[in-house]
Amino acid sequence: MSFNNILGQERAKKILINSLIKGNISHAYIFAGPEEVGKKLTALTFAKTLNCINGKEDCCEECLSCKKINSLNYPDLIIIRKGDENTKTNTISDIKRNFGDENEDKDKESKSIKIGAIRELQRRLSLKPYEGKRKVAIIDNAEDMIAASSNAFLKTLEEPPGETVIILITSNTHSLLPTVVSRCQVIKFNPLSDEHIKEILIKNYKFSENDASTLSSLSKGRLGSAISMDYKSFCMFREDALKLLGSSIKGDLKYVFTESKKLSSDKDKLPQFLDLVADLLRDAVAIKGIGTDDNVINKDVSDKIKEFSSGLQIQNILNMIDKVQQTKSLLDRNANHQLAVEVMMLNIAGGYR
Ligand SMILES: [Zn+2]
Repeated sequence: MSFNNILGQERAKKILINSLIKGNISHAYIFAGPEEVGKKLTALTFAKTLNCINGKEDCCEECLSCKKINSLNYPDLIIIRKGDENTKTNTISDIKRNFGDENEDKDKESKSIKIGAIRELQRRLSLKPYEGKRKVAIIDNAEDMIAASSNAFLKTLEEPPGETVIILITSNTHSLLPTVVSRCQVIKFNPLSDEHIKEILIKNYKFSENDASTLSSLSKGRLGSAISMDYKSFCMFREDALKLLGSSIKGDLKYVFTESKKLSSDKDKLPQFLDLVADLLRDAVAIKGIGTDDNVINKDVSDKIKEFSSGLQIQNILNMIDKVQQTKSLLDRNANHQLAVEVMMLNIAGGYR
């Protein structure tokens, strides 16, 4: 995708395009902002434009170099992220995995960027470009660099090899070493407005007005999330969450225990479930507090939210949100899943009595 076709993020694009026009390219950038707002796409487009044979301020998408980068098979493009031991085997499947689903990395070991990957990156950056004008290294989820990796990486930033551009992608600049941040040009990426996402979904993805409106509020400013969301499965999942919340508030403990057991056996879905429950409770607060659906994320089920929360006070619901957040941090610390979920739902059941 060329800059011209990337939707939103006008400010970030403008800064990069201006530096391409002026030939004033930094050795290192940090693309900072929430998940799924276009940081990776922009990094790849920047890498393409830097190496494009035809374009200067935007890539042509036609030349060999653009095509190779599009297929993630370009020797002067190095992509690393958590779980990579080194960057030697930059095969297409490796790189596709690198830009794939976050949830693929299950085990704890794989949740960091290891020093081996950084050393291999340094080795590869020290070589001349194979066929491109510039070597581009993209470090995804840069906040996952362990301390040793960050320190090793700092050396690369202090003495950047010529004709190299390094792009760190992160949703949390604060977790990077200040010495790393100070050596990079930080480019901020912002969540898009619901209206903007809705407009894009209708215009570019041919969604109906109604679906676009629902998806845009569910996406929380992340266009990538709106586009990739399996809306039908999400609705079924949300129905389950609404039913469990409703049953819990009514005190139907038999249902709560059965469903909590089912839920906690699916470790992948559990964090999504907790986020969803927190969103639904937050929506209940918004409806009660403001009296309209204007600030509600799950607008399309606002009737059901009103139903389960009808007998609750705002403070009751805020306490429930607290319990959900506590459960999330318990699970991060490897607590017993079933017990944690049961206790949370029982707390919700007793939360307003
Ligand atoms: Zn090109």
